Amino acid sequence: MTTGKPTFSSLLDDLKAWLEYQLEEGNRTVEMDPELLKNLAHIPRRKADQAAADAGLKSITETIKACTNCALNKTRTNTVPGQGAAHPDIMFIGEAPGADEDQQGLAFVGRAGKLLTKMIEAMGYTRDEVFIGNILKCRPPNNRAPMPEEMETCTPYLKAQIALLKPKVIVALGATSVKGLLNIKTGISKLRGQWHTFEGTNLMPTYHPAYLLRNPSAKKDVWDDLKDVLKHLGRKAPPVRKRTG
Ligand code: SF4
Repeated sequence: MTTGKPTFSSLLDDLKAWLEYQLEEGNRTVEMDPELLKNLAHIPRRKADQAAADAGLKSITETIKACTNCALNKTRTNTVPGQGAAHPDIMFIGEAPGADEDQQGLAFVGRAGKLLTKMIEAMGYTRDEVFIGNILKCRPPNNRAPMPEEMETCTPYLKAQIALLKPKVIVALGATSVKGLLNIKTGISKLRGQWHTFEGTNLMPTYHPAYLLRNPSAKKDVWDDLKDVLKHLGRKAPPVRKRTG
C-alpha cells in the first residue's frame, strides 16, 4: 500500500494491488467500466485520481455484494458496503449494519445514523463529504455482536476501502470497530480520546452513536474527541446556530 498524499500513479498502484488481491482470492472477474479505464490516460490528473478511486470502490462494492465468505450472507437482505466521498478527510467506521441498514443497503441510516449525521454536521461536514462504513458488511441476526471469525473474514474489504480512500483520519466508533482494526481488546472508555494509527492513518476511537442513544451524558466526551479530530485536520467546528421559535 502507498502512504502519504495520493497521486495519480499511487492510485493506479493501489488499483493494481486491489486487482492482484482479487486474483489471489480466486476472483477472475470484477466489475470495471472499460471506457473509464481507456479514458484514465486522457483526463486531468485530479479527475483521474477520483476516477481511479471510484473504479476501485465500485469493484470492492460489487465483490461485497456477491460475497458468501461467511454465514451472514444467508440472513442478510442487502450488503452494506459503506458510502461517501472518495479521499475524505474523515472515515467513520462502526460495528455492523442494523435492521434499517440491512433494508436500505446503506450504512448508518437508523436512529444511531441520524445521531451520527448530527455529529458530522456539527463538525462542519455533510454526510457526502465523509465516508461512513462498518467492520462487517452484512447484518448479524437480531443485531448480535459480530463473531471474531466474521470480523476476520470481512475486514479485508474494509482494509481495501481504506487503502483506496486514503482518509486523513479514521474515527472508530465503539469497541468492536477498534478491535476489528487494531486488534485491541481494551474497553472503549479507556481507549477513547487517544490517538492510534492504522497502517499509517491516524485513528481516533470514540463511543458508538448507539451507545450515546442509551447514555446521552457521554455526548460531551464524543464531542471532545471530534474537536480533537478537527484540530488535527486544522479545522474548527462552525458556530452553533441558535434555535428559533
Ligand atoms: S459479512 Fe462480510 S465476509 Fe460475511 S458474507 Fe457479508 S461481506 Fe462476506
